[in-house]
Amino acid sequence: MKPFLLLGLFLLGAGTCSLAQKANNYSIQVQFFPEKAQMWGYPVSNNSFMRGSAKVQLSDSNTEKPSFYLHGELKIDSIVSNGKNITFSEKKVFYGKDYSHVGLETTLQSSDITSDNTLDIYYSGFFNPSRARSLSDYFYIDKKDGVYLRSYYYSPWFPIFENATKEDYVANFKKVTVKLPKDFRVVVSGNLIEETISGNLYTVTWKPGPTHISSLQCAARTFKVLKDDNIFIHYVSAPKNAKKIMDFTSNLKKLYFNKLKSIQNTSQLHIIELPEYGNISSQNVIGISTDVYENFEDKLYSKLTIAHELVHPYTSIPVTKNHPFYALVIEGFPSFFHLYGMSKILNDQGFDIKEYMQRTEKSYLKKRSTGEDRRGNPLPIEKSILEIRHNEIGKYKDLFILSDRVRLFLYHLWTTMGEDSYDQFLNKLFNLDTIDYDIMKKIVEEFIPDYGNNLNIWLNTIDYPKSIQLKN
Ligand SMILES: [Zn+2]
Repeated sequence: MKPFLLLGLFLLGAGTCSLAQKANNYSIQVQFFPEKAQMWGYPVSNNSFMRGSAKVQLSDSNTEKPSFYLHGELKIDSIVSNGKNITFSEKKVFYGKDYSHVGLETTLQSSDITSDNTLDIYYSGFFNPSRARSLSDYFYIDKKDGVYLRSYYYSPWFPIFENATKEDYVANFKKVTVKLPKDFRVVVSGNLIEETISGNLYTVTWKPGPTHISSLQCAARTFKVLKDDNIFIHYVSAPKNAKKIMDFTSNLKKLYFNKLKSIQNTSQLHIIELPEYGNISSQNVIGISTDVYENFEDKLYSKLTIAHELVHPYTSIPVTKNHPFYALVIEGFPSFFHLYGMSKILNDQGFDIKEYMQRTEKSYLKKRSTGEDRRGNPLPIEKSILEIRHNEIGKYKDLFILSDRVRLFLYHLWTTMGEDSYDQFLNKLFNLDTIDYDIMKKIVEEFIPDYGNNLNIWLNTIDYPKSIQLKN
């Protein structure tokens, strides 16, 4: 897209900023490459065409003119509320969170919406490739190739009730039904509930549940599926490699079950083979680009991603949102125990945890002294582990504290206790039905009686004295 056109769209978009009305609940139906594709009443090629309908329940708000956004090549066919068609206005705007930078903004009158705040939005149109943003924004749909869509931030394929400058949020996606020609299979997120083939049409229903609006992706290819113990590998080439990924994943799952928490885990994990730049994961869906798929053994990154997504249920302890341990339990434990799992399962071959932790410590010390991450971006202010609140998890995870100090703490316990005691400690920790500082202190001190002062430093302060640093 030419810069002057971008500017023009931007100016169009300016001044329309109204109070946002969010969506609470969604049920979505989409069909890709339908046989009788039409736009404005005229037949069109179905090669990059989709049709969708979304039942949306909006949040309570006094916004007079709620608006929502879709990818710029889509158009609204109708909007129904209270059993009748309601009027709306639509226009193309600059929308920085679409891969083409162009969004379709649709505005309604709240007085037209039923008292239960429910709307049915019918829409259709194209998703052609665009190079307006980076090369890795390869989103598009193509009848020969597949469907590569993610939502807010990338490719809004369902109505997004959020301005492009605003934060992501969680909505409940009750179900997403997708229809496609019969050779395709599709991955959304959450659990796959039901699939049928009738004539040339494949229909599948997914139940994503509560999901960040940026995480609801939709990827369809002519996948074959390898499935075992709620692990699904959706692949297009070399079944041998799918088997390798399955073996790695199910061994890891057994290890977590034996060493961390013996729970019946019925949540599904979906691993999908995607094109170049496809190493993207969201929720329980892990994307693996074809080159990683083909060389899985040598690619640490995908193994770490699988190990991390898989570990969550095995490190959970019931904690409420306002509990001081919430951030530690929800993202702190997973951020370390997937490394623990990797080192056990690979017997330190190809993954040396000691070396990994030395690098972690080095980068932690550097971040503390500069206040910046590796790229020179400012980090959030340093807080003690137990001071990180539930709404700050996103700010600290993968960046600071939850991904370094927490890891160093749990590794310190491991090296101080030794293998056997650490195993027993983990067994106690992950079978707790509640946790607080005193409970943690008690179970740690069963194995290291004089650890009280160290525990206090780790969890309640931001100090990092020599006494708790790694020993060479
Ligand atoms: Zn996580």
